Parts: sequence; structure tokens; C-alpha cells
Amino acid sequence: MHETGIAAGILEIAETEAKRRNAFSVAGICIRVGDFSNVVPEALEFAFDALKAGTLAAGARLEIERVPVAANCPQCNQSVRPKGAILLWCPRCGGPLQVTAGAELDVVSIDLEVSEVTCSASR
Ligand SMILES: [Zn+2]
Repeated sequence: MHETGIAAGILEIAETEAKRRNAFSVAGICIRVGDFSNVVPEALEFAFDALKAGTLAAGARLEIERVPVAANCPQCNQSVRPKGAILLWCPRCGGPLQVTAGAELDVVSIDLEVSEVTCSASR
């Protein structure tokens, strides 16, 4: 299950960012996962929940944004949106398709909880 390694990587990015900005915890992490990235979102959520304990992201939500696969044929310059089964060959000329979207695995945003000194002073 390679999702474990990916979840660990996401946690590392979030913790590094939290420390860099002096945040006391990570409230949420939003990631973008393409349908062509070979990542099972449910498995990734499971791995994330298992690994987050004891980190700055122990209470963090993991939000997963799915990106559908899109491909383009460089030979006949047409874009193909494969549905269901993933097409790797152009339905018109049989040439290899270039995947233009759907291979993403990106951390989009990290919600940090930063202690604000000014808050307690104005209370
Ligand atoms: Zn083609």
C-alpha cells in the first residue's frame, strides 16, 4: 500500500510548514488527487488518520479533491476525456495519448492554527 508513504509525505510537508510559520497545529490539509495517479483516496485517508497521531496535524482534516483524467492526442490534436476505463491510445488514429490532467498529486493548501498574541491582549 504505497498510500502510507504518500500520507507520510503529506504530513511532513504540513508539519514543516506549520513549524516555519510558528503554528501550533494543522487544522486541515487540502490535496488534489488525479484519477490517473494510482492513489486510492480511501486508502490515503486511512493511512493519514493512522499516521497523524502525535504530529502537529493530529486533529487535521484531509480534504481530497479529485481530478478527472484528460488526455490529448499529439498526432490529430484532439483532446480525449476517457470515461471509466483509462484510454492510453487515441480512438481516432491509435497513437499514444498524452495525459494532460489526472496525474496530479499535489498539496493544494494547508490550514494552520497560529497563536495570535494580539488576540489575548485585546480581550
Ligand atoms: Zn489521434
